[in-house]
Amino acid sequence: MSRTSTLTKLLLTSVAITGLVASSAAAHDETVYRLFIGDHVDGIIRAVDLNDGTEMDAFQIDQTPALTRSISGRTIYAVQGDAGKVAIIDTGIAFEDHGDHQDIKITDAQLLSTVIEGTRPAHVVEGSGTIAIFDDGTGDVVLFSESDVINGSFDPLNLSPGAAHHGLAAPMGDFLVVSVPHEDPDQPRFGLRVIDMDGAEVGDVVECPGVHGQAQSARVFAFGCHDGVVLATPGTGATQPTLEHIPTADLGDGNVSTLKGGTAMQFFLGNFGPAAVVIIEPGSEEPFRKVDLPTRRVDFALDPVLAQNAYILTEDGQLRLLNILSGEITQSLQVTEPYSMDGHWRDPRPRLAVAGDHIAITDPLQGLIHLVSTETFEVEQSIAVEGVPYTIVAVGGSGVTH
Ligand code: ZN
Ligand code: ZN
Repeated sequence: MSRTSTLTKLLLTSVAITGLVASSAAAHDETVYRLFIGDHVDGIIRAVDLNDGTEMDAFQIDQTPALTRSISGRTIYAVQGDAGKVAIIDTGIAFEDHGDHQDIKITDAQLLSTVIEGTRPAHVVEGSGTIAIFDDGTGDVVLFSESDVINGSFDPLNLSPGAAHHGLAAPMGDFLVVSVPHEDPDQPRFGLRVIDMDGAEVGDVVECPGVHGQAQSARVFAFGCHDGVVLATPGTGATQPTLEHIPTADLGDGNVSTLKGGTAMQFFLGNFGPAAVVIIEPGSEEPFRKVDLPTRRVDFALDPVLAQNAYILTEDGQLRLLNILSGEITQSLQVTEPYSMDGHWRDPRPRLAVAGDHIAITDPLQGLIHLVSTETFEVEQSIAVEGVPYTIVAVGGSGVTH
């Protein structure tokens, strides 16, 4: 544990940028980012503090996790489908809105005693202050608020909207958008529908064959289908969200099955076949702009601060900077050795996360995390971590302590 040295470093950092915050002598401006990295082999999540680049802690769980962070960054959900469990980490970074500034409270990261158990939990989706975890093994949905997890008063709402399938549920106000399986379980998932918090169906099923992947941007959810995307727009007041299917027929072969949502601008970035991405702009005359990549895609991420930036790692080991506004790849940087997309989908390959002004990239075969500056687009540092670093999420930001 390196709390003291981390804090010392944080204080030095805030001294270095003194003048940004004009406030009482007792107030400090602090910036902290932490990475949480799932190991590819062992059930371990390692926490790395970016202020000093050292491993703060390692949390033992049951198996290699898929990691999802909450919107606030206060908690991380480590989904272990085969083990039927979702472990929860308190990241130790909490923000509180104070109107003209936000306060930051920094504590140790910890593995919480609350474990969500199910048959085969998979997608974790947050919306309207509610986190929904879909259990593929049962078709059930577990709903809860992050504050209940943090306060130790975890008492989830359980809904059973339909049969078991690889599904998802997206909370939108007093409603949920849920995937609808085909009557024949061997057929692709059929579509999406709205239910209320009692589990009652509201409105008709909208077709979205093979529905997979979702993201939220400016209160709108997008979902991937084999033949397009479905956009879910919240209703006004107590009315339900409306679902609209937009076909991607004009884009050629491929479909959207993974999505990221813009934060400061309303757009989505989706995969499209193995070697392209598609920029999706709801309400636009031309809602889709397909961007072909030089080689196949390994992973991609959006920059929540530099809203026009998306980062795409391709299998030749190059990080591509995609300008969302122009739809052009403006920079490329060799970061890792090639990681071929041939072979098993679960083979160890890099994953990306954006932490402030750095892109963090796992390099599983080298046991490294590369940090690329979003300002210079150069590798600034490569941090050695034990094991085989694989899945990654970043949390953090800046705030005032006073
Ligand atoms: Zn304050
Ligand atoms: Zn999935």
